[in-house]
Amino acid sequence: MTEQEFEKKYGRPPVKHSGDVKTKIYWDRIVIALVLLVLLVFCVVRLIGALIGAFGGGESSSVLPAVNNNKESSSEPEHTGYDFTVCIDPGHGGDDSGAQDKTGKRLEKDDTLNVSLKLRDELEALGVNVAMTRETDEFLTLDEICKKANDSKADLFISIHRNSGDEANKGVEIWVNNHEPESDILLASNILSALDEVGISKNREVGFGFIGDSCSNYQVNRQTHMPSCLVELGFITNDADNKLLDEHIGEYAHAMAQAAVKTAKELGITDENGERLIDEPYLSTKPQWNEKTGTYFTEEGEIYAADALQPVIINDHKYTQTTSAKQDDATNAAAQPPDGTVG
Ligand SMILES: [Zn+2]
Repeated sequence: MTEQEFEKKYGRPPVKHSGDVKTKIYWDRIVIALVLLVLLVFCVVRLIGALIGAFGGGESSSVLPAVNNNKESSSEPEHTGYDFTVCIDPGHGGDDSGAQDKTGKRLEKDDTLNVSLKLRDELEALGVNVAMTRETDEFLTLDEICKKANDSKADLFISIHRNSGDEANKGVEIWVNNHEPESDILLASNILSALDEVGISKNREVGFGFIGDSCSNYQVNRQTHMPSCLVELGFITNDADNKLLDEHIGEYAHAMAQAAVKTAKELGITDENGERLIDEPYLSTKPQWNEKTGTYFTEEGEIYAADALQPVIINDHKYTQTTSAKQDDATNAAAQPPDGTVG
């Protein structure tokens, strides 16, 4: 019916249930619901974020390194280094320049110092204690060098030299005491093998005594208490050897450091993890030199009848003088080479 008909029938105009009004209320509710929903979602997101922060960013990041640490400590036990000492002797120095190349510009004393400083760094990087007989271009007598080595209480002694000779001569050789002590041979052969692996022009083997005279010893192999060797690191008179040294000096140093660690383990100075196993400095079985008397003593040698020298005691080992040592000493007194430059 029309409005007129409604008014006529009921005496009042019809109440307008406007669609607009209904719609308006409906949208108000929707808007409020949406606002509430957005607020709720926002709160949930914040809550989840907080939970991730606590359990993800906090716990998981602290758990993972803990797991890694456990792995490290089980497979690679923590140690502060290899608890032994190496004394490095860079041959020559100061006024004693050692051998030289054909131009006269390249000096043995510089090469030996360069290699020795790199060897020191490599050893220290492994946590090995290092004593140096010199770290600058200075001259020390062989007596001073040996005294420094013995005073340092080093377990191993490595003297670095360069060889010289005819231009055709090449390669690396290492010298040890002519009494062929096992510990010294082990040190020398480990170093030689390691250098050989890096690459050298020729492996000239481990030699005993002094070149051309097996009855004589290099002083550093005679008067040091610990296992010792004298490394002739290629010929300074050979261009190929010099090139090899220049190109591989870092690798040579690294190889020698690894060889020293290998030797320390094999001699029982440290265990596999670098823990020290002995109280005193390691003592070579070579005849021990007595600085006061200037003679040798050997652990199981016979007492030399003609003299009244007292046995010497080093690290609780009692040494007695031997006839062979006496002979050795006499030979050295007559024909003691000044150092390791010859040949
Ligand atoms: Zn030399």
